[in-house]
Amino acid sequence: MMPNRTERPAAPGRSNDRPGGPGRGRPGAPGGAPGAGGGTGAPAGGGFGKGGRGRGGTQGAFGKGGAGRGKQRKSKRAKRQELEQMSAPSLGGVSVPRGDGNTVVRLRRGSSITDFADKIEANPAALVTVLFHLGEMATATQSLDEDTFALLGEELGYKLQVVSPEDEERELLSTFDIDFEAELEAEGDEDLEVRPPVVTVMGHVDHGKTRLLDAIRNSDVMADEHGGITQHIGAYQIEHEHEGIERRITFIDTPGHEAFTAMRARGAKVTDIAILVVAADDGVMPQTVEALNHAQAANVPIVVAVNKIDKEGANPEKIRGQLTEYGLVPEEYGGDTMFVDVSARQNLNIDELLEAVLLTADAALDMRANPNKDARGIAIEANLDKGRGSVATVLVQSGTLKVGDTIVAGTAHGRVRAMFDEDGANVTEAGPSRPVQVLGLSNVPRAGDTFFVTADERTARQIAEKREAADRNAALAKRRKRISLEDFDQAVAEGKVDTLNLILKGDVSGAVEALEDSLLKIDVGEGVQLRVIHRGVGAITQNDVNLATVDNAIIIGFNVKPAERVAELADREGVDMRFYSVIYAAIDDIELALKGMLKPEYEEVQLGTAEIREIFRSSKFGNIAGSIVRSGIIRRNAKARVLRGGKVVGENLTVDSLKRFKDDATEVREGFECGIGLGSFNDLELEDIIETFEMREKPRA
Ligand code: GDP
Repeated sequence: MMPNRTERPAAPGRSNDRPGGPGRGRPGAPGGAPGAGGGTGAPAGGGFGKGGRGRGGTQGAFGKGGAGRGKQRKSKRAKRQELEQMSAPSLGGVSVPRGDGNTVVRLRRGSSITDFADKIEANPAALVTVLFHLGEMATATQSLDEDTFALLGEELGYKLQVVSPEDEERELLSTFDIDFEAELEAEGDEDLEVRPPVVTVMGHVDHGKTRLLDAIRNSDVMADEHGGITQHIGAYQIEHEHEGIERRITFIDTPGHEAFTAMRARGAKVTDIAILVVAADDGVMPQTVEALNHAQAANVPIVVAVNKIDKEGANPEKIRGQLTEYGLVPEEYGGDTMFVDVSARQNLNIDELLEAVLLTADAALDMRANPNKDARGIAIEANLDKGRGSVATVLVQSGTLKVGDTIVAGTAHGRVRAMFDEDGANVTEAGPSRPVQVLGLSNVPRAGDTFFVTADERTARQIAEKREAADRNAALAKRRKRISLEDFDQAVAEGKVDTLNLILKGDVSGAVEALEDSLLKIDVGEGVQLRVIHRGVGAITQNDVNLATVDNAIIIGFNVKPAERVAELADREGVDMRFYSVIYAAIDDIELALKGMLKPEYEEVQLGTAEIREIFRSSKFGNIAGSIVRSGIIRRNAKARVLRGGKVVGENLTVDSLKRFKDDATEVREGFECGIGLGSFNDLELEDIIETFEMREKPRA
């Protein structure tokens, strides 16, 4: 039972504040009587059932009965506050913190109830229920539109503002008079110059990625002239003669698709071309497939390096055949993917591989940038060095970075004190596609952070500080819009998506293949596509979740589950994961989702019961059940049914009005009395039980 303090009833004489209230002067009109309930002739006194009829003002709870009006008004305000706190909608004991009506909450576009819940530190499930009572069904992770958020915000006392991350960044930069879009638009063809392609090497572990990156670096025709000591700075550039012209190529020196996808997850596009390394003596392996899926998902053209051809048992033809099944058809078979047989160990065909990279880049991409402006780009790698402070490798994407420039990179800022290339040599300028190590930043940017040159140090510092503040806020509610099977059709209807991206993971490859085959045979609706962006054998990994985050995909686990850590990540990121052990069940769900027929399942959760002790008849408001809460809580707007002697006599009802004495209450707890109005349902008798419940979204098995 709650302490009396918080259940303080309406002060007597409250009706004085409502002129003409029929209950005027009658303290403690019965709870639940609508308006000034006393006027219905109902007995006064909050304590019906306690024999307290008409004794209002004498019960302890009414102790303030004699208070003067002025005092009452004050206490009314205080009481209202108290009541609001007390009556914050709560679920299973979890209260929803209320705003004061002016509390502004900014949410990123595409935010879900969970994002909002994070910001106000509420339980998402509680908010789902609140919204449900407002007549809107939504899952906790479904992204809500502005109107729905406004409705929910209003109910809870918050002013919700919806902004997109791009808007945020643009807004931030515009306060500094920075507008990159206008800058790009103003650029003409004559401003653009060819820039080197940026390449990432991916593939299965031990297939030779690191060795290949070394071999490529050693092939640099200029390397000898540089004469420096090879340094690992996260990226390097080489020169290669192509059709009589010296061409440069930039390699990201952190092999693997993990970094690639992590950067993409942060919105950074670094890579122009991916080299997919496959060992000829081994063949296509899970990470080969994963890497190629990641590259394809990012629309990055692939060049295949069939490595280790020096080894006995190497079978390059087999690799070609295998990869054809994944949509990488070799040029010699009429496809558009270049395959080059190499040996990283014996430096075989490295030039040919570089040639293939340039040909693919030239054919597929417009690799031009304006070098004659302030630099912009992406941080690739960074660390804190004892002697040198923050050491960051950045990749210039456009413009030219110069020593002495002031830059801001994510939340780091500073003046470029010195720059070094991959040979440890000092450089004073770095143009498009050039990776350089930068000294002079205030702290360490994250891989994937964008950087750009600012007019002065103050601007850089202020931008960095504002981002840092935004980061802190975002940490509270950083989840982004994710899709779930249930809201797919709605997202389609709203034009937000037209493709259902799936990631399939299964225990055996046969099952995964069968599942994919069947899925792809589904008759998808017009204008809608189903795309399997990644499939693999084994447990659902962090990488899968990251990929799902980036490409707004749903993960299907067939007889596999994620590790707890991975499940947590998925939950945090709002990635929808489904687990099946029967192919048909998976197909059914996807089919229903595509047709917009997969609706969340709700289950009934009992909130509380109340026993009718008194009936107040009102022609205007219908009968009011003066009741005592027997168990749990009775909540306004909750679903209700009426039981008499264990039999249901009223179904599909709603707690239309709920009063604690004369005041509207949002909920009343066990042991307390209240007045319950069930709308037009009037068939009430003493000792009837009013059972209330709510519908909560049921997690799918
Ligand atoms: P990563 O895990 O993909 O980076 O693979 P590594 O570059 O570390 O190579 C794995 C192993 O394969 C090492 O022992 C390499 O020496 C070896 N290796 C790499 N490329 C070749 C090659 O072309 N031929 C042969 N025979 N071995 C190679």
